[in-house]
Amino acid sequence: MLEVLIVEDEPSYLDALKITLEPEGFSIRMAPDGRSGLAAFESARPDVVLLDLMLPDITGLDVLRSIRQLSDVPVIVVSAKSAEADIVTALELGADDYLTKPYSSRVLVARIRANTRRLAEDDDETVRVGGTVLDPSRYEIRIGGAALALPRKEFELARMLMERHGRIVTRETLLKEIWDIDWGESKSLDQHIRRLRRRFEKLEGAPHITTLRGVGYRLEA
Ligand code: CA
Repeated sequence: MLEVLIVEDEPSYLDALKITLEPEGFSIRMAPDGRSGLAAFESARPDVVLLDLMLPDITGLDVLRSIRQLSDVPVIVVSAKSAEADIVTALELGADDYLTKPYSSRVLVARIRANTRRLAEDDDETVRVGGTVLDPSRYEIRIGGAALALPRKEFELARMLMERHGRIVTRETLLKEIWDIDWGESKSLDQHIRRLRRRFEKLEGAPHITTLRGVGYRLEA
């Protein structure tokens, strides 16, 4: 059973989440502020975190930063803040997904499933492109003597591009395969591509990711 940690201070949202998620088979743990959220995270190590941004003590972004120092657990920000800058900041700090309030319960459940799907799959086939080796058993990419440990979504992105290296992989395919839902996530895709590219640029012999504007991406050795 997947355990969901919900860090949220509004009782009405907590009640609604409990009613939505428990019948879907999730086990729920709730924290009403940032500090208790972090404490719950450290003691329970949940499978996914739903994180509000406006909390009574520390901010949700502080919670996110602290979680990212400990773990690559999927974190879905659920916030009333809908400005582009808020969304981009959260994604840059390592959020896997961002839902604005009010949200649809069905969409929330679909996002949780999408963000935890890879955890359930036993997909450990190694992929090689030139001197680059992608090792799913360790969630890392090795290039020459260097090992890159990647956050989950970047890893999936690298995997899809490497499996289809030399060919164009469309944005549509990446959004559908990695984010599951094919609308509204294109900023997140851009962010993840940018981060992955920056990591590669630091390593000699790493593959290049070429952008085909409006179409997709191509990875070349
Ligand atoms: Ca709040």
